[in-house]
Order: sequence, then C-alpha cells, then structure tokens
Amino acid sequence: MDEPLYGTPIPHHTPTGPLSPPLARATTSAQPDAETLRLLGAGQRSGEFYQRLGHTNGRMFESLAAAREGADGAVAFSSGMAAISGAMLALVRRGDRVLIPHEVYGGTAAFVTQDLPRFGIEVERFHSLDDAGLEAGLARGARLVVLETPVNPTLRLVDLAVTTARCRAHGAITLVDGTFAPPPIQRPLQLGADLVVHSATKFYGGHSDVLAGVVAGRHELMRPIEAFRRRTGGVLAPDPAWLLCRSWATLDLRLAAQQAASLELAVGLQRLCDEGELAAAIYPGLPQHPDRALAQRQMQGGGTLVSFEVHGGHDRARRVFDALQVVARAASLGSVESLASLPAYTTHASLSAAERHAAGIPDGLLRISVGLEGAAVLLADIASALRRTR
Ligand code: PLP
Repeated sequence: MDEPLYGTPIPHHTPTGPLSPPLARATTSAQPDAETLRLLGAGQRSGEFYQRLGHTNGRMFESLAAAREGADGAVAFSSGMAAISGAMLALVRRGDRVLIPHEVYGGTAAFVTQDLPRFGIEVERFHSLDDAGLEAGLARGARLVVLETPVNPTLRLVDLAVTTARCRAHGAITLVDGTFAPPPIQRPLQLGADLVVHSATKFYGGHSDVLAGVVAGRHELMRPIEAFRRRTGGVLAPDPAWLLCRSWATLDLRLAAQQAASLELAVGLQRLCDEGELAAAIYPGLPQHPDRALAQRQMQGGGTLVSFEVHGGHDRARRVFDALQVVARAASLGSVESLASLPAYTTHASLSAAERHAAGIPDGLLRISVGLEGAAVLLADIASALRRTR
C-alpha cells in the first residue's frame, strides 16, 4: 500500500462554508461492504474506520506538523512522552544501543534508562556538548541517538548539522527533540536529523490546555511508527487534535511576539547584570552567549526561553521565584502565559548539587518561558522580585 495512513489535506475554505473544520468524535464508522472493512482493518486503505487507527482531526494536525517541518509525514500521539517512547520503541530492537545526553528532558531520560533496558536495549549517556564522548559512543555502535537543543536550562546549543552528520556516518538514526524551538525558529530535519519530535503540549498547543505529541520524518521511518501506534494505542484524540489545528492559526504570530519579547527581556536582564543585580543573563540571542554564532547559523532568533542566575545561590533563587507576581510558577513552556521554572527544584531535582554544577547549572538559576505579557511587564516583575528579596 503506497498511501500513508497518517496526514490528510486540510479542506479548503469555501466562500460560504464553515470557517473551521468539523470535530469528528465518532470512534467507529459504518462501511459499505466486507471488502472495504478488510482493507481498512489490514491497514491497506486509509479512511475513517476506528478511531485508534487514525481519524480526520488527527490527520489534519499531522499534515500541518509535517508541512511545518518539511517532513514526508508526521504521526501524532496523546502526549510528548508517548511520541518519544513510541518513536523509539518502533525503531529499536533487542541488542541495539541508544545514546542519550545527560541534559535531555527528565521524562525522556527516565523512559530510556528505566524502560529500554528491560527490553534488552543498551543505553549510554553522553554530555550534549562533548563531541568526543558522543564519537566514542558512536564508535561502539548505536542504532539511535537522541539530541535536544537548546539544552535545558543552560540554553547552550548543539550544532545539529555537525552532530547529525557524525551520527549518520556511523549509521545511527538521530531523533531530535525540537520542543524548545519549533519551526520556523529551528528546523532539525533540514539540518540532517532523521526524526524530529515535539511535545505539542508546549508551543503547538500554546495555551496550557492541550496535552499532545508529534513525531515527523521521512515515510520510511514514519510507517513503522504509525504501525506501532496502531498496535499500542497512544493515538491523539480528536478534541486536542482540533484544538491544535485551531492554535496553528496563531502559532507564527505567537512565536514572533514571544521571541521579540524574549530578546528584549534578555537585554534588560543583561543590563541588571551589568549593574550588579544579577550574576548572569542567558539567552542565545545575546552577543554574550557562548553559542551566539551557532544560534545565528541554526536558529531564526534566539527562541523564547530566557534563563538568569541570581546572586545568593539556592536560597535567593527560591525567594525570587516565590516573589514573582506576573510570571506563573508552573512546569511547562511555550504558552501565552509566562512561566518560571526553578531547575534545581523541578526538572533537575534528581541530580546532586555536584552533578548540576558539572552540567553547568548554577544553584541560583531560574528559567523563564516568555509568553505574551510584554517584555517591560516581565522585566518589572523580575526586577521587583529581586528588590524585594535583597
Ligand atoms: N520534551 C521536552 C523538551 C519537554 O519539555 C517535555 C515536557 O515538559 C516533553 C518532551 C514531554 O512532553 P509531554 O509533557 O507532552 O509528554
């Protein structure tokens, strides 16, 4: 069967028709005859059949996601973790080795280190910026390499063109978690990645009300991933798929506004550093950023996450975090509301202080996911929190 089972063209608006696509919640659809049922059931024909095997709203979102990445196709899952675990489990087998950075999202690290070994898959960790460590791992043989950039929460960058070429030379598949910088900010497939995965819960949903994930790549890799999803059932439901298509209309506008505000906020935070109020302002769009040149090559802009380090270590960071009045203290990113994260307490709580320091995460670090409130409002909120916690 040549016709892919994921993705479907979005119906064009007609001059008088509804301006948004219908939401189809049916779990099953009646068919004209036994032969049609046989072909649909065997996955030899696409169409409405049974919701777990794919549905119109999900396929619409998949088409949008694939087009945005410049991919042959995309397969949507019920969460980012379902997409990441589904893509890996579909492609690895007993005896394979998977390489994964120490700094990768904690949920991904937990799945890879706790679940994959139960299926006879070897796992090796490397530091995101340690090219020699990755090369050594590749030399021992690897089926799949996970990459994530910008690196959380230090916002250092992995050179995707160089790293994916290195992995390809060793015959390893690269899976890039692009959640932190969706297209048009960063296009991992155009930089040589085999697969890109997103927690669509973040920018793609954009309003803190949808949990979803999506993986995109070439048909050769998407077919087994779609088939695995059919068998294991982690499909995205129609309602969140519909919401994702709705969010799509404002995605570029949101990203542009969030990115412009991030740069303005980062410049303001850098000014606070120069005045001695902050220990560091970290943003790939700042001239002071160590990967600034790479950011200019591989990203369009510096993204929408800004980190900063307060004076006074852990205790002060916690007090500044608690004193924020506009930025919400919430675990996530990419939403219209600005969100603050305290890595030592949340995403990187499982690391010892020494491990955090080795990963370049100082005790006083806070990360802001910049929303749509405007840079002046956010800067005033942070400056006020700093003043009130001196
Ligand atoms: N990848 C990254 C970089 C994330 O930040 C997250 C969630 O925070 C995930 C994957 C997992 O996505 P989800 O929460 O949608 O399962």
